[in-house]
Amino acid sequence: IPVPTNQPCWNYVPGTESAIKLKQACEKMRKELPYDVPLIINGKEVRNGKKKEQLICSDHKNVLCKFDVVDENLIQKAVDGAMKAKKHWEELPFETRAGIFLKAADLMVGKYRYEMMASTILGQGKNVWQAEIDCIAELADFLRFNVKFAEEIYSMQPKINPAGMWNRVEYRPLEGFVLAITPFNFTAIGGNLPTSPAILGNVSLWKPSSTSILSNYIFAKILQEAGLPDGVIQFIPGSGSVIGRTLLSNKNLGGVHFTGSTEVFKHIWMEAAKFTMDTYKSYPRIVGETGGKNYHFIHESADLDHVANSTVRGAYEYQGQKCSATSRMYVPKNVWPKLREKLEAIIKQIKMGQSDDFSVFMSAVIDKASFDNIKNYIEGAKKDPDSEVIIGGKCDDSVGWFVEPTVILTKNPKSKTMVEEIFGPVLTIYLYDPDKYEETLDLCDNTSEYGLCGAIFAQERNALDYAVKRLRNTAGNFYINDKSTGSVVGQQPFGGARASGNNQKAGAIINLLNWCSPRSIKENF
Ligand code: GLU
Repeated sequence: IPVPTNQPCWNYVPGTESAIKLKQACEKMRKELPYDVPLIINGKEVRNGKKKEQLICSDHKNVLCKFDVVDENLIQKAVDGAMKAKKHWEELPFETRAGIFLKAADLMVGKYRYEMMASTILGQGKNVWQAEIDCIAELADFLRFNVKFAEEIYSMQPKINPAGMWNRVEYRPLEGFVLAITPFNFTAIGGNLPTSPAILGNVSLWKPSSTSILSNYIFAKILQEAGLPDGVIQFIPGSGSVIGRTLLSNKNLGGVHFTGSTEVFKHIWMEAAKFTMDTYKSYPRIVGETGGKNYHFIHESADLDHVANSTVRGAYEYQGQKCSATSRMYVPKNVWPKLREKLEAIIKQIKMGQSDDFSVFMSAVIDKASFDNIKNYIEGAKKDPDSEVIIGGKCDDSVGWFVEPTVILTKNPKSKTMVEEIFGPVLTIYLYDPDKYEETLDLCDNTSEYGLCGAIFAQERNALDYAVKRLRNTAGNFYINDKSTGSVVGQQPFGGARASGNNQKAGAIINLLNWCSPRSIKENF
């Protein structure tokens, strides 16, 4: 297997061939909508007439696609088909499986680049750059690196073989199927969760988010074109509760690969605990990456220009809809006036608009439920005597679900917007006395139930070292003088503990190890 390198990102500079082609792809998509998206079960397109809609979030009178949703009968058909496909799939040589995913990565960055980009831009409200780093770069990286990680797993063998004996470990796939439940916010995660178990010979039932259907469907078709046998990954959009109820109680459930809300993950965990071995053949592997309340902690020695730039990117890129988005910040009182000026100057320049307008930095949030939820937090802060909305705060859903980049200043370090995940472009700032650096680090640790991402900004080495140690348990992804977002596959394995999930690190060997059940074999000669 070739040693992978990270897929280089394109810039789509206006006037270049790539920008022109991408513009054309977006225009074509707008002309052709609404697309009709079927289920894919056993390699066949299935339409059962039960349709839901995915809207363009920045222009919500337009339906991007109408998609079929599964019912219990179709889910059972998908399970039966997957379990049948598994027999052949897991017997294939690893190289054959690997080749399919490597080819899919190439098809995506090549032949289907513009279609993938347009569907992510229009469907999920990503600007050009955010779409590029997601559905092209990160998804290709997941596929290529995971194949390499699988090869490394297969090569992990016992080192000691006494005379006349051969010890080896066979990395069997799980006996059952894997249920992959994927979020709207990264097409890359949509692709990663069903494929990473499949690389090791598993079969997956893929429930994509209802707000990222088109891009996820295009990827499912790419897998087929790359040669994925029928039934190995079943594409089954539908209601979370119907799919959850039907599959979490299925005796062939081998594992769950989940990214989404903390609440849903808790539910999955409890359902699996309830059924246990009375139902299942083996204890299912449960892997979840959930929410975050990610912080930037600023020391008075920090480079403030860098802090301002990094914070605006961390908090507002993709409208703050990354699990890793910066949503709370601790700033020493003595540097605040300067930092505030810098933040205001950058935020003032932020352009919002349609995601297929290549000059925008931000577009709309994903749907009405999300818009209402974010708006509630902002309205709550306006009414809170300890908090003040100092930048932004306007919400407008007349054309799309637009929320301005918003900064809240609070005197209460445990105010609602300092503690709860909002999943939108809202940053809350707490000012601390620079003499209380150490106590404030403690406060940062004790404020949130989450443990996903955090960052320390400081130039003074002692302050830095102390924070790195003191904040040890606050984040599975910790950044020193960099923003809380933007992990890169193969560079910073991603995931967190506490209420952020069970830290099984997307895009790393540790994740793939969940999808095999090793058999130790001792042979005497
Ligand atoms: N890996 C992404 C990042 O570092 C976040 C993924 C997510 O939102 O789940 O920004």
